[in-house]
Amino acid sequence: MIQENLYKIRETISEVATRCNRNSEDIRLVAVSKRFPVEVMREALAAGQMIFGENYIQEAVQKKNLLGEVVKLHFIGNLQSNKAKFAVDTCSMVETVDRLKIAKAMNRYLEETERSLDVLIQVNIGFDQNKSGVSPDESETLLKKVRDLPRLRVRGLMTMPPLMDDPEAVRPFFRDLRRLSEKMEDKGLLGDHGKTELSMGMSNDYQVAIEEGATLIRVGTAIFGQRPAPEKQQ
Ligand SMILES: *Cc1c(COP(=O)(O)O)cnc(C)c1O
Repeated sequence: MIQENLYKIRETISEVATRCNRNSEDIRLVAVSKRFPVEVMREALAAGQMIFGENYIQEAVQKKNLLGEVVKLHFIGNLQSNKAKFAVDTCSMVETVDRLKIAKAMNRYLEETERSLDVLIQVNIGFDQNKSGVSPDESETLLKKVRDLPRLRVRGLMTMPPLMDDPEAVRPFFRDLRRLSEKMEDKGLLGDHGKTELSMGMSNDYQVAIEEGATLIRVGTAIFGQRPAPEKQQ
């Protein structure tokens, strides 16, 4: 079932890309495997899915140990600075940098180990009180400060818009994120590490996100089905 779902989603990605004159190779699928066991991830791996999204550090570390170097983990959860070291050791990208403290903590550890890391700035594009992310107004200031940290490569922006059933209702938020990224590019604050990444769109609305310029879509339910309930707060 997982393999079928993946094939279907890849097909959809390529259809939508064609429809809006984009190259489907510029759109990468992040399979959000949070709370799913590694067996399920192995099925996806067997179907060629290499990038997975995880929200909890302990869980990401365990899975990385079991699955090894072939998998690329993107951290998409709320990161605490005392877990920065684990995020750096485990993930190929941290998509959820929304304050300087966490960026500095990662940079410090990267400095010690002489590595660098791709990150995205998480923007709370809908000013949603329940969502993390830097407000659009403050994003430029944060972006400048994170850019000053030599071990972090800011690749682009990520957002989690307000939850809405109608994917069309989410479109303005995706568009706003794209416009914000273009503004930052114009100011020379993004785009110096390759094409600017825009991580936006989930199971329900990834097609609209692609139309609005997403380069990373984070899809869980549409690949793996209903997620198991959370066990406990980490
Ligand atoms: C869980 C999660 C997703 C995936 O959501 P689905 O609706 O299951 O596709 C995407 N992004 C983030 C940040 C998440 O926490």
